[in-house]
Amino acid sequence: MSLDENELPRTEDEWRVRLTPEEFRVLREAGTERPWTGEYVDTKTPGVYHCRACGWELFSSDTKFDSHCGWPSFDDAIPGRVKEIQDRSLGMVRTEIRCARCDSHLGHVFHGEGFTPKDTRHCVNSVSIRLEPQRD
Ligand SMILES: [Zn+2]
Repeated sequence: MSLDENELPRTEDEWRVRLTPEEFRVLREAGTERPWTGEYVDTKTPGVYHCRACGWELFSSDTKFDSHCGWPSFDDAIPGRVKEIQDRSLGMVRTEIRCARCDSHLGHVFHGEGFTPKDTRHCVNSVSIRLEPQRD
């Protein structure tokens, strides 16, 4: 289900036709879904979360935890799959996270909140990811 490198859209217009309007707004225009509205906020199903835009594996359900912030939260990403960018929008300095492969917006990452021993919260829009449940 992951797109091959040569199948990745090259322009925003190509992305626009592949994604729903809400997916496009969040993934390609760095939007944010309203808290508590995403389909994965409380999901506990074991599996792997893929980038909704390109299908790359980004987060394991093992790293998902209850942050009570209204968005799916992970204390770690699959190594090398998520890139961090300084974001100075809205008068704050935050660290934006994007898919390292297709450059789509996922959410933000926060440190030092003390939620888990890794002390890291990847705050991710549900609409940016898609869960592939584990098969046994
Ligand atoms: Zn991607």
